[in-house]
Amino acid sequence: MIAYIGIGANLGDASANVDDALVRLAALDGCRVLAASSKYRTAPIDSSGADYVNAVACIETPLAAAALLTALHAIELAHGRERPYRNAPRTLDLDILLYGDEQIDLPALHVPHPRMLERAFVLVPLLEIAPGIMVPGRGLASGFLPAVAGQGIEAME
Ligand code: ADP
Ligand code: MG
Repeated sequence: MIAYIGIGANLGDASANVDDALVRLAALDGCRVLAASSKYRTAPIDSSGADYVNAVACIETPLAAAALLTALHAIELAHGRERPYRNAPRTLDLDILLYGDEQIDLPALHVPHPRMLERAFVLVPLLEIAPGIMVPGRGLASGFLPAVAGQGIEAME
């Protein structure tokens, strides 16, 4: 299965945490990172603290969606992620944005990620590596770009 993973961090060395997340994604059993976007610096939205570093990765994985989410949580935990309150600053956040063309509505897993099309920090890196990507039930991801044009996002070198 091809999945797109949203990566974000705004505590500690956020840029290094994003790099390490990519290494750990590639190290998951049977997983390959097919593409990784540039890193982007973004102001916190619905959150607080320092600027975020965000990226999106495209992976090939044999894991079922729920197992993939569990694996992502394990990587977050390895980075000392704590969840003191909703949308708290975080060392590392890994979200399943897309899982093939599946639509999944489980209590703890919603795919496509419900807020992905409203967030420049997801859309811009996603479109960098997958310009023609379709979002099941929503259409072309690129069609949602104009609506987030006002959100500050800056590619890092
Ligand atoms: P955020 O919404 O900021 O990513 P968290 O990372 O704390 O917040 O996620 C809260 C919960 O969201 C997770 O425990 C997970 O069960 C649930 N969740 C639902 N859909 C997804 C998804 N597509 N990817 C990742 N987590 C998801
Ligand atoms: Mg998350």
